[in-house]
Amino acid sequence: MSASVRAKLQLPDGHQQLLLHSCCAPCSGEVMEALLESEIPFAIFFYNPNIHPVKEYLIRKDENIRFAEKHNIPFIDCDYDTDNWFARAKGMENEPERGIRCTMCFDMRFERTALYAYENGYSLISSSLGISRWKNMKQINDCGLRAAAHYPEISYWDYNWRKAGGASRMIEISKREEFYQQEYCGCVYSLRDTNRWRMSQGRDRIRLGEKFYSNAMDEED
Ligand code: SF4
Repeated sequence: MSASVRAKLQLPDGHQQLLLHSCCAPCSGEVMEALLESEIPFAIFFYNPNIHPVKEYLIRKDENIRFAEKHNIPFIDCDYDTDNWFARAKGMENEPERGIRCTMCFDMRFERTALYAYENGYSLISSSLGISRWKNMKQINDCGLRAAAHYPEISYWDYNWRKAGGASRMIEISKREEFYQQEYCGCVYSLRDTNRWRMSQGRDRIRLGEKFYSNAMDEED
């Protein structure tokens, strides 16, 4: 049963369509369904060169493609330019999550989203990144606004996808769709730090490609 009924969404300021950056299927599932229900035209823009290793990247991307195809949503598969990501992350290898490395990481993804929007006739961008309760929404919105500010024609939609039950529905949809359940944010440093934490708790290291959401899971998951 759904946590709550969605309100009908409207794009701000008369925009007619949206370019939605997506980080993964679990985070974008609720956003995509909310947009579909509100009959808002949109396309998914998948640009996440932070995700490491390539095996994990492909699993996350393929899950997102599977869900987009199910709903006939255009899916734009952008570069996996990891060299650029690592170049920009240089010197930030030991920064904590939510710190300056993450600001760089969001900046990079929004910059590419805004560029694609500019070159392809979109005037509004947003992202599924902010729906996760692990993320700092202000940090993400600041990055989105900064990227859009490079183009007078482009605006960033800072809609709070978590509110009005969005965060709960994100989990419900992930279970219903049995999405792959990633166990770390994405980059090699988050994989390293999550594994260190797990080992300090006496847990095994992350095994890529093995964990999926399901209705049999506890609500905690
Ligand atoms: S922890 Fe996540 S947001 Fe931060 S740099 Fe790594 S992949 Fe990007």
